[in-house]
Amino acid sequence: MRYVKTDTQSDPQSSAHPTTGKQKDLSKILAEELLAIGLTGVHTDEYGYVYATIEPNTEKKVPVICFCSHVDTAPDCSGTNVKPLLHKQYNGEDIVLPDDNLQIISTKDYPYLKEHIGHSIITASGLTLLGADDKSGVAIIMDMANYLVTHPEVKHGTIKILFTPDEEVGKGTAKLNMKMLGADFAYTLDGGEAGTFEDETFSADGAKITVHGVIAHPGYAKDKLINALKIAGEILAALPKDEFSPETTNGRQGFIHPVAVNGIAEKATIEFIIRDFITSNLALHEVRLKTIAEEVLQRFPKATMQLEVWEQYRNMKEILDQHPQVAANAAAAYKRAGLTVRNEPIRGGTDGSRLSFMGLPCPNIFTGMQAIHSKHEWVGVKDMEKAVDVLVQLVQVWEESV
Ligand SMILES: [Zn+2]
Repeated sequence: MRYVKTDTQSDPQSSAHPTTGKQKDLSKILAEELLAIGLTGVHTDEYGYVYATIEPNTEKKVPVICFCSHVDTAPDCSGTNVKPLLHKQYNGEDIVLPDDNLQIISTKDYPYLKEHIGHSIITASGLTLLGADDKSGVAIIMDMANYLVTHPEVKHGTIKILFTPDEEVGKGTAKLNMKMLGADFAYTLDGGEAGTFEDETFSADGAKITVHGVIAHPGYAKDKLINALKIAGEILAALPKDEFSPETTNGRQGFIHPVAVNGIAEKATIEFIIRDFITSNLALHEVRLKTIAEEVLQRFPKATMQLEVWEQYRNMKEILDQHPQVAANAAAAYKRAGLTVRNEPIRGGTDGSRLSFMGLPCPNIFTGMQAIHSKHEWVGVKDMEKAVDVLVQLVQVWEESV
């Protein structure tokens, strides 16, 4: 609750690192606390990253495991003057947030709340997000660090702690010093319901169609002018209406999604994002997009079109499958903590997918956070405690596996 009171909202418009200087306010607090707990190598840099080490207490050569969370909160909703509220022994009734009576958190909208009846939950006060994404992850890691330092009977190898800025604006790994981190495998603490485990993300390409029309003075354009904007409009209209789009797919289905249209009568561009869990399907989607566009262009023989495609990110499962012990050890730790693993593919990318392709295989563990990026954001305290338990089990599973 202390961490969420520090405003750490990141800014997608900024090209600075971090995108907002205030993120470093929390990084500084965390570095001081890690030092006070007794960790070594505690370091926070000009970019807002925090690095720290829990020294090993075993003779065995255990792989170096890193736990990672992001300090920033989403730009979608204010993170200024967050007033966290602890609702002890939640009774199952609607929670009317005190600073805006229209903001109501109910079991109807959030059925998962029912699992927290009789337990403590934390919400914001109605004017801001809570920032459980991802300060619940930060708190879990801090609590684990404190637990390991004060419980030397729990055997573990070298544990690295990493807090990153700017995850919410897709720049969480931009200035990360992998050498300084020095970890073999990592886990982000940035997931939802207790028991969920995410080791699979979309694979993602970007694409751009450029349409070249034929320009003429509009007063004398009869039988000459071919308007690129109208062709772009027809391409958009020719996209499938009941499939192949974000608004008509879920689960493991992929899609193409127009995200921007720009142009003048002479030349127009349409930008797309293309997503699928199976990387080789991206090429199939791109062929399909090209075919749709070419069919439209056939009606305008004097117009031309190009399609460019570029890689954005890849499904981290491709990397994690090469290191099956990362997920297997997590599954064992969940079991010891009394949980069954629920694997959920993420219909998006994470810092973990970027880290995985930077050479640090990195799936995602739950924190309990719910209704993220909104004024309804909440988190159950028992889920956070459970996540600490999972981490304490996990470091031991790694130690025993050597
Ligand atoms: Zn997050």
